[in-house]
Amino acid sequence: MRKRWISLLVTGLLVGGALAPASPALAAPTFKVPFPCGQSWSGQTRSDHSPAYAVDFNRTDDLGDPVVASAPGTVDRVTDLGGTSYGKYVRINHGGGYSTYYAHLNGFNVSVGQTVGYGKVLGWVGSTGGSTGPHLHYEQRLNGSDIQVRFNGTLGLYWGSKTYTSDNACSSGTGNATVDTSGTPLTVRSGPGTGYASVGTVADGTRVTIACQTSGTTVTGTYGTSSIWDRIGSGRYISDAYVYTGYDGYIPNVPRC
Ligand SMILES: [Zn+2]
Repeated sequence: MRKRWISLLVTGLLVGGALAPASPALAAPTFKVPFPCGQSWSGQTRSDHSPAYAVDFNRTDDLGDPVVASAPGTVDRVTDLGGTSYGKYVRINHGGGYSTYYAHLNGFNVSVGQTVGYGKVLGWVGSTGGSTGPHLHYEQRLNGSDIQVRFNGTLGLYWGSKTYTSDNACSSGTGNATVDTSGTPLTVRSGPGTGYASVGTVADGTRVTIACQTSGTTVTGTYGTSSIWDRIGSGRYISDAYVYTGYDGYIPNVPRC
């Protein structure tokens, strides 16, 4: 978890049940900026763009720069429309009705049916199709309709240009986190819930490595209310409500148990 419970109390966000656990069946993927970790790109939106919520990305000397998957999924289109429209483009199906488009590419690095994760190079920035200069035309869609883009859950800028810095695939497959109980030791359970046997404790401030995450008993702790449980060893689970991971909800790149 990321936000501390105490700060929420101070700002009064508890009013109205704002922290009630929300578990939408088909939550949006956590989309990342579609470029490698650490790179900064200018993303432009404009109301006469087609479709309207697409983003055009540029940076200096960007022709040939790698374009990467903004979330895990399956490549379901690798298409060359020639000198019109998207030109060479890739589409990824992320499940739950969500898809992303990467257009005007110079070339392809994936094929249809391929499973991709965060940071997978899909192709390279180009100026193919109906493009007048090198850039990446990027879209997020839900059930086929373009939606306003979000990176790490944060809405992109509409309308105008904004610099986006990528944290795409910056970390490996495990989550490094810190237990934060404000003092007392945290009980470790044999499974993802308070009904499982206690198998020990971890002290406040302990650094832990999260192998995987799953849902279990809803717990209210230092970082609010969460039903996520973190597996920190074989048969060892702790409530994510007491763990600083840098993320609200599940950690990108860390698998479900
Ligand atoms: Zn465009």
